[in-house]
Amino acid sequence: MNDLTPTPGGGCRSAPVLKQRGQREVFCGLTGIIWLHRKMQDAFFLVVGSRTCAHLLQSAAGVMIFAEPRFGTAILEEQDLAGMKDAHTELDREVARLLDRRPDIRQLFLVGSCPSEVIKIDLARAAERLTQVHAPHVRVLNYSGSGIETTFTEGEDACLASMVPVLKDTPARELLLVGALPDVVEDQMLSLLGQMGIDNIRLLPARRIDETTAVGANTVFALTQPFLGETHAALMRRGARHIPAPMPFGEEGTTAWLRAVAAEFGVDDATFDAVTAAPRARARKAIAQAAEHLNGKSIFFFPDSQLEIPLARFLTRECGMTAVEVGSPYIHDAIHGPDLDLLPAGPQISEGQDVDLQLDRVRAARPDLTVCGLGLANPLEAEGLTTKWAIELVFTPVHFYEQAGDLAGLFSRPIRRKSVLRVEAAE
Ligand code: SF4
Repeated sequence: MNDLTPTPGGGCRSAPVLKQRGQREVFCGLTGIIWLHRKMQDAFFLVVGSRTCAHLLQSAAGVMIFAEPRFGTAILEEQDLAGMKDAHTELDREVARLLDRRPDIRQLFLVGSCPSEVIKIDLARAAERLTQVHAPHVRVLNYSGSGIETTFTEGEDACLASMVPVLKDTPARELLLVGALPDVVEDQMLSLLGQMGIDNIRLLPARRIDETTAVGANTVFALTQPFLGETHAALMRRGARHIPAPMPFGEEGTTAWLRAVAAEFGVDDATFDAVTAAPRARARKAIAQAAEHLNGKSIFFFPDSQLEIPLARFLTRECGMTAVEVGSPYIHDAIHGPDLDLLPAGPQISEGQDVDLQLDRVRAARPDLTVCGLGLANPLEAEGLTTKWAIELVFTPVHFYEQAGDLAGLFSRPIRRKSVLRVEAAE
Protein backbone atom coordinates (compact mmCIF):
# COMPACT_ATOMS: atom_id res chain seq x y z
CA MET A 1 0.00 0.00 0.00
CA ASN A 2 2.78 2.38 0.88
CA ASP A 3 5.26 3.49 -1.76
CA LEU A 4 7.83 4.86 0.65
CA THR A 5 11.32 3.68 -0.16
CA PRO A 6 12.91 1.41 2.45
CA THR A 7 14.97 3.20 5.03
CA PRO A 8 18.73 2.80 4.59
CA GLY A 9 20.09 0.85 7.53
CA GLY A 10 16.64 -0.20 8.70
CA GLY A 11 15.39 2.88 10.58
CA CYS A 12 15.78 3.97 14.18
CA ARG A 13 12.87 2.28 15.95
CA SER A 14 15.06 -0.24 17.73
CA ALA A 15 18.12 2.03 17.99
CA PRO A 16 19.49 2.44 21.53
CA VAL A 17 18.06 5.56 23.16
CA LEU A 18 20.27 7.76 25.33
CA LYS A 19 18.12 8.59 28.35
CA GLN A 20 19.28 11.44 30.54
CA ARG A 21 17.80 13.29 33.47
CA GLY A 22 19.32 16.50 34.73
CA GLN A 23 19.15 20.23 34.18
CA ARG A 24 16.60 21.09 31.46
CA GLU A 25 16.14 24.09 29.18
CA VAL A 26 12.50 23.87 28.11
CA PHE A 27 9.23 25.77 28.36
CA CYS A 28 6.52 24.60 30.73
CA GLY A 29 3.11 23.48 29.46
CA LEU A 30 1.50 26.88 30.08
CA THR A 31 2.84 28.02 26.70
CA GLY A 32 0.30 25.76 24.94
CA ILE A 33 -2.34 28.32 25.92
CA ILE A 34 -0.88 30.76 23.41
CA TRP A 35 -1.97 28.72 20.40
CA LEU A 36 -4.91 26.87 21.99
CA HIS A 37 -6.81 30.07 22.83
CA ARG A 38 -6.66 31.12 19.19
CA LYS A 39 -7.94 27.74 18.01
CA MET A 40 -10.81 27.34 20.48
CA GLN A 41 -12.71 30.52 19.90
CA ASP A 42 -15.11 30.28 22.82
CA ALA A 43 -12.61 29.10 25.44
CA PHE A 44 -10.83 31.00 28.20
CA PHE A 45 -7.71 29.73 29.96
CA LEU A 46 -7.39 30.86 33.56
CA VAL A 47 -4.00 29.98 35.00
CA VAL A 48 -3.96 29.65 38.76
CA GLY A 49 -0.38 30.59 39.45
CA SER A 50 2.17 33.18 40.46
CA ARG A 51 3.51 36.35 38.86
CA THR A 52 6.20 34.19 37.25
CA CYS A 53 3.47 32.35 35.33
CA ALA A 54 1.82 35.63 34.29
CA HIS A 55 5.18 36.98 33.08
CA LEU A 56 5.91 33.80 31.16
CA LEU A 57 2.59 34.06 29.32
CA GLN A 58 3.12 37.74 28.60
CA SER A 59 6.58 37.25 27.16
CA ALA A 60 5.68 34.09 25.21
CA ALA A 61 2.54 35.68 23.76
CA GLY A 62 4.47 38.76 22.63
CA VAL A 63 2.24 41.30 20.89
CA MET A 64 -0.80 39.04 21.28
CA ILE A 65 -1.31 40.32 24.82
CA PHE A 66 -2.62 43.60 23.38
CA ALA A 67 -5.47 41.88 21.52
CA GLU A 68 -7.70 41.11 24.53
CA PRO A 69 -6.69 37.47 24.50
CA ARG A 70 -8.79 34.79 26.10
CA PHE A 71 -6.32 33.85 28.80
CA GLY A 72 -5.23 35.28 32.12
CA THR A 73 -3.65 34.46 35.44
CA ALA A 74 -5.37 34.35 38.82
CA ILE A 75 -2.31 35.31 40.83
CA LEU A 76 -1.80 33.57 44.13
CA GLU A 77 -0.98 36.16 46.79
CA GLU A 78 0.92 35.61 50.00
CA GLN A 79 -2.32 35.27 51.92
CA ASP A 80 -3.40 32.44 49.65
CA LEU A 81 -0.07 30.71 50.08
CA ALA A 82 -0.24 31.02 53.84
CA GLY A 83 -3.72 29.54 53.82
CA MET A 84 -5.12 32.73 55.36
CA LYS A 85 -7.74 33.06 52.70
CA ASP A 86 -9.84 30.29 51.26
CA ALA A 87 -8.41 29.83 47.77
CA HIS A 88 -11.63 28.22 46.56
CA THR A 89 -13.83 31.15 47.60
CA GLU A 90 -11.38 33.53 45.94
CA LEU A 91 -11.36 31.48 42.76
CA ASP A 92 -15.17 31.27 42.63
CA ARG A 93 -15.37 35.04 42.92
CA GLU A 94 -12.75 35.63 40.20
CA VAL A 95 -14.48 33.18 37.85
CA ALA A 96 -17.90 34.74 38.42
CA ARG A 97 -16.45 38.18 37.67
CA LEU A 98 -14.73 36.94 34.51
CA LEU A 99 -17.79 35.14 33.13
CA ASP A 100 -19.93 38.14 33.85
CA ARG A 101 -17.61 40.39 31.85
CA ARG A 102 -17.06 37.94 28.98
CA PRO A 103 -20.41 36.26 28.17
CA ASP A 104 -18.90 34.84 24.95
CA ILE A 105 -16.92 32.32 27.01
CA ARG A 106 -18.42 28.82 26.79
CA GLN A 107 -15.49 26.71 28.01
CA LEU A 108 -13.30 27.69 30.91
CA PHE A 109 -10.07 25.86 31.64
CA LEU A 110 -8.58 26.18 35.10
CA VAL A 111 -4.92 25.62 34.35
CA GLY A 112 -2.72 24.35 37.18
CA SER A 113 0.83 25.69 37.63
CA CYS A 114 3.83 24.82 39.81
CA PRO A 115 2.64 26.99 42.74
CA SER A 116 -0.95 25.69 42.63
CA GLU A 117 0.32 22.11 42.53
CA VAL A 118 2.84 22.59 45.29
CA ILE A 119 0.29 24.05 47.68
CA LYS A 120 -2.19 21.47 46.39
CA ILE A 121 -5.16 23.57 45.38
CA ASP A 122 -7.67 21.02 44.18
CA LEU A 123 -8.55 22.51 40.79
CA ALA A 124 -10.35 19.34 39.65
CA ARG A 125 -12.85 19.78 42.45
CA ALA A 126 -13.09 23.50 41.74
CA ALA A 127 -13.86 22.73 38.07
CA GLU A 128 -16.64 20.33 39.05
CA ARG A 129 -18.16 22.83 41.44
CA LEU A 130 -17.94 25.72 38.98
CA THR A 131 -19.45 23.60 36.18
CA GLN A 132 -22.50 23.10 38.38
CA VAL A 133 -22.72 26.80 39.14
CA HIS A 134 -22.35 27.99 35.55
CA ALA A 135 -24.01 25.14 33.57
CA PRO A 136 -25.36 24.85 30.96
CA HIS A 137 -23.85 27.98 29.43
CA VAL A 138 -20.26 27.32 30.51
CA ARG A 139 -18.31 24.09 30.91
CA VAL A 140 -15.39 24.27 33.34
CA LEU A 141 -12.49 21.83 33.02
CA ASN A 142 -9.07 21.56 34.60
CA TYR A 143 -5.59 20.45 33.55
CA SER A 144 -2.04 21.08 34.61
CA GLY A 145 0.45 23.11 32.60
CA SER A 146 3.01 23.21 35.40
CA GLY A 147 6.70 22.96 34.66
CA ILE A 148 7.01 20.16 37.20
CA GLU A 149 4.66 17.97 35.21
CA THR A 150 4.63 19.22 31.62
CA THR A 151 7.08 20.33 28.94
CA PHE A 152 5.99 22.89 26.33
CA THR A 153 3.62 21.15 23.88
CA GLU A 154 2.53 18.70 26.56
CA GLY A 155 0.28 21.53 27.74
CA GLU A 156 -1.87 20.98 24.65
CA ASP A 157 -1.84 17.25 25.35
CA ALA A 158 -3.01 17.80 28.93
CA CYS A 159 -5.73 20.19 27.74
CA LEU A 160 -7.11 17.84 25.07
CA ALA A 161 -6.88 14.84 27.42
CA SER A 162 -8.99 16.77 29.96
CA MET A 163 -11.74 17.13 27.34
CA VAL A 164 -11.91 13.44 26.36
CA PRO A 165 -13.86 12.13 29.39
CA VAL A 166 -16.65 14.71 28.87
CA LEU A 167 -17.07 14.13 25.12
CA LYS A 168 -20.48 12.77 24.12
CA ASP A 169 -20.70 9.07 23.35
CA THR A 170 -21.43 7.97 19.78
CA PRO A 171 -21.86 4.54 18.18
CA ALA A 172 -21.09 6.01 14.71
CA ARG A 173 -18.03 5.00 12.73
CA GLU A 174 -16.27 8.33 12.53
CA LEU A 175 -12.80 9.68 11.99
CA LEU A 176 -11.56 11.87 14.81
CA LEU A 177 -8.62 14.10 13.91
CA VAL A 178 -6.69 15.12 16.98
CA GLY A 179 -4.33 18.09 17.41
CA ALA A 180 -4.73 21.88 17.14
CA LEU A 181 -3.80 23.05 13.64
CA PRO A 182 -4.06 26.56 12.20
CA ASP A 183 -7.48 26.96 10.53
CA VAL A 184 -6.02 27.24 7.02
CA VAL A 185 -4.12 23.95 7.43
CA GLU A 186 -7.13 22.24 8.96
CA ASP A 187 -9.23 23.28 5.95
CA GLN A 188 -6.65 21.83 3.54
CA MET A 189 -6.63 18.54 5.46
CA LEU A 190 -10.44 18.30 5.45
CA SER A 191 -10.57 19.12 1.75
CA LEU A 192 -8.08 16.35 0.83
CA LEU A 193 -9.98 13.78 2.90
CA GLY A 194 -13.33 15.04 1.59
CA GLN A 195 -12.17 14.58 -2.01
CA MET A 196 -11.42 10.93 -1.13
CA GLY A 197 -14.98 10.55 0.13
CA ILE A 198 -14.08 10.63 3.83
CA ASP A 199 -16.36 13.18 5.41
CA ASN A 200 -17.59 11.61 8.63
CA ILE A 201 -14.98 13.63 10.48
CA ARG A 202 -14.81 15.26 13.91
CA LEU A 203 -12.06 17.44 15.26
CA LEU A 204 -10.41 17.66 18.66
CA PRO A 205 -10.17 20.48 19.54
CA ALA A 206 -13.17 21.86 17.66
CA ARG A 207 -13.26 25.59 16.99
CA ARG A 208 -16.38 25.99 19.15
CA ILE A 209 -18.04 23.92 21.84
CA ASP A 210 -21.24 23.68 19.74
CA GLU A 211 -19.42 21.69 17.06
CA THR A 212 -19.81 18.74 19.36
CA THR A 213 -17.03 16.23 19.18
CA ALA A 214 -18.14 12.73 20.13
CA VAL A 215 -16.27 9.47 20.63
CA GLY A 216 -17.10 5.79 20.99
CA ALA A 217 -16.10 2.20 20.24
CA ASN A 218 -16.40 2.74 16.47
CA THR A 219 -14.32 5.91 16.42
CA VAL A 220 -10.93 5.71 14.75
CA PHE A 221 -8.53 8.54 15.39
CA ALA A 222 -5.43 9.95 13.75
CA LEU A 223 -3.03 12.37 15.42
CA THR A 224 -1.76 15.42 13.57
CA GLN A 225 0.74 16.26 16.32
CA PRO A 226 3.31 13.92 17.86
CA PHE A 227 3.01 15.17 21.44
CA LEU A 228 -0.42 13.79 22.30
CA GLY A 229 0.46 10.76 24.44
CA GLU A 230 -2.05 11.42 27.24
CA THR A 231 -4.84 12.24 24.78
CA HIS A 232 -4.02 9.03 22.89
CA ALA A 233 -4.39 7.06 26.14
CA ALA A 234 -7.62 8.85 27.10
CA LEU A 235 -9.18 8.13 23.69
CA MET A 236 -8.19 4.47 23.91
CA ARG A 237 -9.90 4.33 27.30
CA ARG A 238 -13.08 5.55 25.56
CA GLY A 239 -12.80 2.58 23.16
CA ALA A 240 -11.50 4.52 20.14
CA ARG A 241 -8.80 2.97 17.91
CA HIS A 242 -5.61 4.75 16.83
CA ILE A 243 -4.44 4.78 13.20
CA PRO A 244 -0.64 4.72 13.49
CA ALA A 245 1.07 6.87 10.85
CA PRO A 246 4.08 9.11 10.30
CA MET A 247 3.28 12.76 11.03
CA PRO A 248 2.07 14.85 8.04
CA PHE A 249 5.30 16.83 7.57
CA GLY A 250 6.75 17.13 4.08
CA GLU A 251 5.46 15.49 0.94
CA GLU A 252 6.36 11.99 2.04
CA GLY A 253 5.00 12.29 5.58
CA THR A 254 1.75 13.84 4.38
CA THR A 255 1.28 11.12 1.77
CA ALA A 256 2.01 8.35 4.28
CA TRP A 257 -0.38 9.91 6.82
CA LEU A 258 -3.16 10.27 4.23
CA ARG A 259 -2.55 6.73 3.00
CA ALA A 260 -2.94 5.29 6.48
CA VAL A 261 -6.29 7.08 6.88
CA ALA A 262 -7.39 6.21 3.32
CA ALA A 263 -6.57 2.52 3.88
CA GLU A 264 -8.72 2.51 7.03
CA PHE A 265 -11.68 3.84 5.01
CA GLY A 266 -11.16 1.61 1.94
CA VAL A 267 -10.23 4.40 -0.49
CA ASP A 268 -8.94 2.82 -3.73
CA ASP A 269 -5.50 3.63 -5.14
CA ALA A 270 -6.85 5.40 -8.22
CA THR A 271 -8.89 7.84 -6.13
CA PHE A 272 -5.99 8.38 -3.75
CA ASP A 273 -3.59 9.13 -6.59
CA ALA A 274 -6.07 11.42 -8.36
CA VAL A 275 -6.57 13.50 -5.20
CA THR A 276 -2.92 13.69 -4.15
CA ALA A 277 -0.98 13.85 -7.45
CA ALA A 278 -1.13 17.63 -7.97
CA PRO A 279 -0.45 18.75 -4.38
CA ARG A 280 2.32 16.14 -4.09
CA ALA A 281 4.03 17.55 -7.16
CA ARG A 282 3.68 21.11 -5.83
CA ALA A 283 5.12 20.07 -2.47
CA ARG A 284 8.08 18.26 -4.05
CA LYS A 285 8.92 21.29 -6.14
CA ALA A 286 8.70 23.70 -3.21
CA ILE A 287 10.84 21.44 -1.02
CA ALA A 288 13.47 21.05 -3.74
CA GLN A 289 13.88 24.83 -3.93
CA ALA A 290 14.21 25.33 -0.19
CA ALA A 291 16.36 22.21 0.27
CA GLU A 292 19.13 23.54 -1.96
CA HIS A 293 20.84 25.05 1.09
CA LEU A 294 20.15 22.02 3.30
CA ASN A 295 21.54 19.26 1.12
CA GLY A 296 24.60 17.61 2.67
CA LYS A 297 24.33 19.64 5.91
CA SER A 298 24.24 18.15 9.41
CA ILE A 299 21.62 18.87 12.05
CA PHE A 300 21.39 18.45 15.84
CA PHE A 301 18.07 18.61 17.74
CA PHE A 302 17.81 19.63 21.38
CA PRO A 303 14.61 18.27 23.01
CA ASP A 304 11.78 20.78 23.01
CA SER A 305 8.43 19.97 21.44
CA GLN A 306 8.39 16.21 20.54
CA LEU A 307 8.29 17.35 16.92
CA GLU A 308 11.99 16.50 16.63
CA ILE A 309 11.69 12.89 15.40
CA PRO A 310 9.22 13.54 12.54
CA LEU A 311 11.13 16.68 11.55
CA ALA A 312 14.43 14.79 11.49
CA ARG A 313 12.73 12.20 9.29
CA PHE A 314 11.57 14.94 6.89
CA LEU A 315 14.92 16.75 6.79
CA THR A 316 17.01 13.63 6.27
CA ARG A 317 14.80 11.92 3.70
CA GLU A 318 13.44 14.87 1.74
CA CYS A 319 16.06 17.58 2.18
CA GLY A 320 19.29 15.55 2.11
CA MET A 321 20.45 16.43 5.64
CA THR A 322 22.31 14.18 8.08
CA ALA A 323 21.05 14.00 11.65
CA VAL A 324 23.75 13.89 14.34
CA GLU A 325 21.50 13.76 17.39
CA VAL A 326 17.72 13.79 17.64
CA GLY A 327 16.64 14.73 21.15
CA SER A 328 13.02 14.53 22.25
CA PRO A 329 11.58 15.32 25.70
CA TYR A 330 9.62 12.06 25.53
CA ILE A 331 9.43 9.19 23.07
CA HIS A 332 6.14 7.35 22.75
CA ASP A 333 6.46 4.19 20.68
CA ALA A 334 2.85 4.10 19.37
CA ILE A 335 3.12 7.72 18.22
CA HIS A 336 6.78 8.21 17.24
CA GLY A 337 7.34 4.63 16.05
CA PRO A 338 6.20 5.09 12.42
CA ASP A 339 8.52 8.10 12.03
CA LEU A 340 11.41 6.28 13.74
CA ASP A 341 10.93 3.42 11.26
CA LEU A 342 11.56 5.85 8.39
CA LEU A 343 14.40 7.80 9.98
CA PRO A 344 17.66 6.53 8.46
CA ALA A 345 19.91 4.79 11.00
CA GLY A 346 22.84 6.81 12.29
CA PRO A 347 21.81 9.63 14.64
CA GLN A 348 21.96 9.36 18.41
CA ILE A 349 18.35 9.26 19.59
CA SER A 350 18.07 10.85 23.03
CA GLU A 351 15.18 11.22 25.45
CA GLY A 352 15.07 13.74 28.28
CA GLN A 353 17.97 16.07 28.93
CA ASP A 354 21.04 16.89 30.92
CA VAL A 355 21.71 20.18 29.18
CA ASP A 356 25.40 20.55 30.06
CA LEU A 357 26.24 17.10 28.72
CA GLN A 358 24.20 17.79 25.62
CA LEU A 359 26.02 21.09 25.09
CA ASP A 360 29.31 19.19 25.29
CA ARG A 361 28.05 16.86 22.55
CA VAL A 362 26.89 19.67 20.26
CA ARG A 363 30.22 21.50 20.67
CA ALA A 364 32.11 18.33 19.81
CA ALA A 365 29.93 17.61 16.77
CA ARG A 366 29.77 21.23 15.48
CA PRO A 367 26.72 20.55 13.29
CA ASP A 368 25.77 22.90 10.43
CA LEU A 369 22.43 23.59 12.13
CA THR A 370 21.31 23.25 15.76
CA VAL A 371 17.60 23.28 16.62
CA CYS A 372 17.11 24.52 20.18
CA GLY A 373 15.13 26.80 22.49
CA LEU A 374 15.47 30.56 22.77
CA GLY A 375 17.62 30.33 25.90
CA LEU A 376 20.36 28.42 24.08
CA ALA A 377 20.14 29.92 20.59
CA ASN A 378 22.05 33.19 21.04
CA PRO A 379 24.81 31.75 23.25
CA LEU A 380 25.38 29.00 20.66
CA GLU A 381 25.37 31.57 17.82
CA ALA A 382 28.07 33.47 19.74
CA GLU A 383 30.12 30.26 19.71
CA GLY A 384 29.82 30.15 15.93
CA LEU A 385 27.07 27.55 15.63
CA THR A 386 24.05 28.24 13.40
CA THR A 387 20.75 27.77 15.20
CA LYS A 388 17.04 27.50 14.54
CA TRP A 389 14.60 28.41 17.33
CA ALA A 390 12.36 25.44 17.91
CA ILE A 391 9.37 27.49 19.11
CA GLU A 392 8.74 28.85 15.62
CA LEU A 393 8.00 25.32 14.43
CA VAL A 394 5.02 25.16 16.73
CA PHE A 395 3.57 28.59 15.85
CA THR A 396 4.08 28.47 12.09
CA PRO A 397 1.77 26.48 9.76
CA VAL A 398 4.03 23.57 8.76
CA HIS A 399 1.76 20.53 8.24
CA PHE A 400 0.53 18.99 4.96
CA TYR A 401 1.47 19.56 1.33
CA GLU A 402 1.04 23.30 0.85
CA GLN A 403 3.27 24.14 3.82
CA ALA A 404 6.04 21.63 2.98
CA GLY A 405 8.17 24.23 1.19
CA ASP A 406 7.76 26.70 4.07
CA LEU A 407 8.78 24.00 6.51
CA ALA A 408 12.03 23.34 4.65
CA GLY A 409 12.44 27.13 4.36
CA LEU A 410 12.36 27.55 8.16
CA PHE A 411 15.52 25.42 8.35
CA SER A 412 17.30 26.79 5.29
CA ARG A 413 16.85 30.45 6.31
CA PRO A 414 19.42 30.50 9.15
CA ILE A 415 21.96 28.68 6.97
CA ARG A 416 21.40 31.11 4.10
CA ARG A 417 21.61 34.11 6.42
CA LYS A 418 24.91 32.85 7.81
CA SER A 419 26.40 32.52 4.34
CA VAL A 420 25.15 35.99 3.33
CA LEU A 421 26.68 37.54 6.45
CA ARG A 422 29.93 35.69 5.80
CA VAL A 423 30.11 37.07 2.26
CA GLU A 424 29.37 40.60 3.49
CA ALA A 425 32.02 40.34 6.18
CA ALA A 426 34.58 39.22 3.59
CA GLU A 427 33.85 42.19 1.33
S1 SF4 B 1 3.93 26.87 35.72
FE1 SF4 B 1 5.86 26.65 36.82
S2 SF4 B 1 7.43 26.63 35.21
FE2 SF4 B 1 5.54 27.48 34.30
S3 SF4 B 1 5.75 29.69 34.58
FE3 SF4 B 1 4.57 28.93 36.32
S4 SF4 B 1 6.12 28.59 37.92
FE4 SF4 B 1 7.23 28.75 35.95
